Amino acid sequence: MTATIIDGKAFAATVRDKVAGHVARLKEEHGITPGLAVVLVGEDPASQVYVRSKGKMCAEVGIASFEHRLAEDTSEDALFDLIDRLNNDPAVHGILVQLPLPGHLNEDLVINGITPSKDVDGFHIFNVGLLGTGQKSMVPCTPLGCLMMLRDHHGDLSGMDAVVIGRSNIVGKPMAQLLLGESCTVTIAHSRTRDLPAVVRRADIVVAAVGRPQMVPGEWIKPGATVIDVGINRIEAREKGVNEDGSAKTRLVGDCDFDSCAAVAGAITPVPGGVGPMTIACLLANTVTACCRANGLPEPEGLTA
Ligand code: NDP
Repeated sequence: MTATIIDGKAFAATVRDKVAGHVARLKEEHGITPGLAVVLVGEDPASQVYVRSKGKMCAEVGIASFEHRLAEDTSEDALFDLIDRLNNDPAVHGILVQLPLPGHLNEDLVINGITPSKDVDGFHIFNVGLLGTGQKSMVPCTPLGCLMMLRDHHGDLSGMDAVVIGRSNIVGKPMAQLLLGESCTVTIAHSRTRDLPAVVRRADIVVAAVGRPQMVPGEWIKPGATVIDVGINRIEAREKGVNEDGSAKTRLVGDCDFDSCAAVAGAITPVPGGVGPMTIACLLANTVTACCRANGLPEPEGLTA
């Protein structure tokens, strides 16, 4: 069997189109422009790239983006002052504090300082509680993107056996909650799980969110299962040659061994081009959802959990 490739890049483009359409209607019919504030503390190069690309994507769909760059040694008080201002700014519907924060700042405290209705990352403890109790919440972007792809591919997920490998607060746990919300039978696996191959082998849906390159081989996959690979891992790719300093070129791989999994699975997301593009599309979707909720307007269809 050769799996259908779930093209996250193409699907993310359709999500962004939907967002752009909704943003245009909000402007035309209500004179409202959704706004996303992104806060970056320090000089982390990867974070700078993410923040830049978030700003660019916002511009493409018509969302106003407000970038706040703070020095590495910013105090917790100064950061809370900024978050307070953004919480009270009616032009800001979503607030994202780029993680990781420098070590002297308490990430949990900072995230929980954001007004829950503006917490477009869905990390605030209040949103975690709402999701856990099956209530309307802001849903973390990566699991929301995975859910959208699964719904698009399968339609109804109810009764399916789903195994989520990884129990992080940003991917594994919310993913499991969302699948439970779809009436899947959900197992969460982690580093202490006994006989992981046997656990994975019974799954109709496998979501791998571990951070270990190509850890899941095809022989763990039930024939015909759907594999959602969240992992983003950079490995050496000597076949691509070497850099000027003699170091090996690199490439991105997921947590699943793509070739062997694709030979057995019914459908699979590639890395890159699978879950990654959906994450940022869902951030835009969450910003529009937050804007609609703040203004008492109907939420955009197909853009929420
Ligand atoms: P974390 O490191 O927070 O969590 C990893 C999880 O994997 C933990 O629960 C850990 O178990 C589990 N784990 C580690 N080793 C094993 C093992 N041998 N067998 C089974 N489980 C294991 O990672 P994240 O959830 O933040 O991210 C996971 C991956 O997803 C990373 O590659 C990350 O880069 C990627 N990612 C991709 C995004 C995207 O947009 N596509 C967004 C966010 C993350 P335990 O709890 O027992 O330690």
